[in-house]
Amino acid sequence: MQQTYSLIINGEKVDGALGTFDVINPATENVVAACPQATPAQLNAAVDAAEAAFRNWQHTPDAELKQTLHRIADSIEKRADELASIIVQEQGKPMFLAQAEVGGAVAWTRYTAELDIPVEVLEDSPNKRIELHRKPLGVVGSITPWNWPLMIAVWHIMPALRTGNTVVAKPSGMTPFNTLLLAEIINAEVPAGVMNVITGERGIGSGMTSHEKIRKIVFTGSTPTGQTIMRGAACNLKRLTLELGGNDAGIVLPDADIDSIAEAIFQTAFLNMGQTCAALKRLYVHDSQYDALCEKLSAIASTQVVGNGMDEGVTFGPVQNHDQFNLVSELVEDARNNGARILCGGEPLPGNGYFYPPTIVADVSDGQRIVDEEQFGPVLPVIRYSDVDDAIARANACEVGLGGSVWSSDLEQARKVAMQLECGTAWINGHAEVLPHAPFGGCKMSGFGVEFGQEGLLEYTVPQTLNINR
Ligand code: NAD
Repeated sequence: MQQTYSLIINGEKVDGALGTFDVINPATENVVAACPQATPAQLNAAVDAAEAAFRNWQHTPDAELKQTLHRIADSIEKRADELASIIVQEQGKPMFLAQAEVGGAVAWTRYTAELDIPVEVLEDSPNKRIELHRKPLGVVGSITPWNWPLMIAVWHIMPALRTGNTVVAKPSGMTPFNTLLLAEIINAEVPAGVMNVITGERGIGSGMTSHEKIRKIVFTGSTPTGQTIMRGAACNLKRLTLELGGNDAGIVLPDADIDSIAEAIFQTAFLNMGQTCAALKRLYVHDSQYDALCEKLSAIASTQVVGNGMDEGVTFGPVQNHDQFNLVSELVEDARNNGARILCGGEPLPGNGYFYPPTIVADVSDGQRIVDEEQFGPVLPVIRYSDVDDAIARANACEVGLGGSVWSSDLEQARKVAMQLECGTAWINGHAEVLPHAPFGGCKMSGFGVEFGQEGLLEYTVPQTLNINR
């Protein structure tokens, strides 16, 4: 891994004018490398470059945009090992998961390359023709979190470029290096100024949000930051896609075959050590199967190999940062103090690194912090219910609405329950599964707008109606 990284402004590699800050490896607490700290003036320079590049880039023929994205995907593939290794060191996830993240980045880039931007004919009569076109917006600002840093950057950047926009990206200061390398890869395939990246936490994100020349912000992160961004975006009525926090409920119906679903429930709750926006974060289980399912989940948890993601055989990495690690510890302590049973895990591991083992918490209920708050970490509260309608009401009694799931052998019954969940995606016998062709987004305080598929692509465009009187 390189020891120094650069910003990319107008096609050039540039040092941060405020020096650097250290990025910490969560498995060792050692410094991974120094990250450039940009200034507001450098942000302005990046936006100016993106605005200037937009003048030509917006007219790039469709076929050329598609080829460009495929060339970027080729380059990501060529540097897959390097990217995966960076992700493990700065994010903490095990190598197999980092490799999957890089694979996902390639797949999403290729899928986005092949999407078409439609021109709809709304009327074609002897006197009149009306066409609906979709035009690029201009400079798009991407602000990303630390959990799936490369994948989410790709989700933001590729549809922006595919639709003829230019980009200024700002990754999380906790996991910046994968995105700095991604931007370098993209920069090699596009004209100067089309892809810019800046890093630094001191007001850079809010500077983007309130920047008069940025036309859209695509943001993935917490709900409070999303609210701040929305306020800042009012200055020039920026378009927004806000992919915010969730507290996804899963409901296990009385007829579910728990032998066949326990593994999937575990994996979707603890995906990326639970640090996944649409992970299963509250599990409602019918009284009749409660104890048996708790036991199975704990047995699966005990088979996890917790350790440094670079080490062979490790299946479970650390929590990404100290604050999140403290929050997880605090929520489990709060549950314990309020009479919950900790079936496995429940204590941080000694030694260096933010290691917290997979933890199953039983005998908890709504009204307790571990159920009501987004834990965003390796803990799953399991809540007992006896009436399905009551479980649905409790699943919905939550201000966020990202995902939800129903687990059952009766697909018709499961569909009826799933359709009542207040969330952007409802899964049946699954959870946390995102796909490039299935629009994904939240409702309520989980945000608005979707990513993926054609619906996601069109969020990077503005409609223009062409009304022709013959
Ligand atoms: P965060 O909101 O703290 O930070 C996200 C990004 O916003 C970072 O790059 C940060 O530097 C930047 N930022 C911070 N303050 C800002 C401001 N005032 N203006 C502009 N930018 C600012 O979130 P996090 O802790 O990095 O990520 C965890 C959260 O993200 C969880 O709540 C999780 O559910 C959510 N998330 C949601 C999705 C989704 O698709 N809905 C996906 C992943 C994560």
